Amino acid sequence: MNAERCHVCGGTDFEDRRVEYICRRNGNYLVVRDVPCEVCLRCGERYYDGAILLDIERRFKAIYEQHVKPRSVVQVPIEVYA
Ligand SMILES: [Zn+2]
Repeated sequence: MNAERCHVCGGTDFEDRRVEYICRRNGNYLVVRDVPCEVCLRCGERYYDGAILLDIERRFKAIYEQHVKPRSVVQVPIEVYA
């Protein structure tokens, strides 16, 4: 990553990990698994490469606007806490 310090906590130790990224736009969701990122070891903040986020954005649009078939689909139950 470019910054040497975490912009949230100021931590300086990071680790490369692959995580689950959830993209949400106007009530539509896309879950992308195994997304590479760097994680701040002090506070857990995730840092993604801009090119990766653009790629995820492209996939989101392909699925919701061009009806490209995703790898799999799950149903997600929704609740409202009252
Ligand atoms: Zn941090």
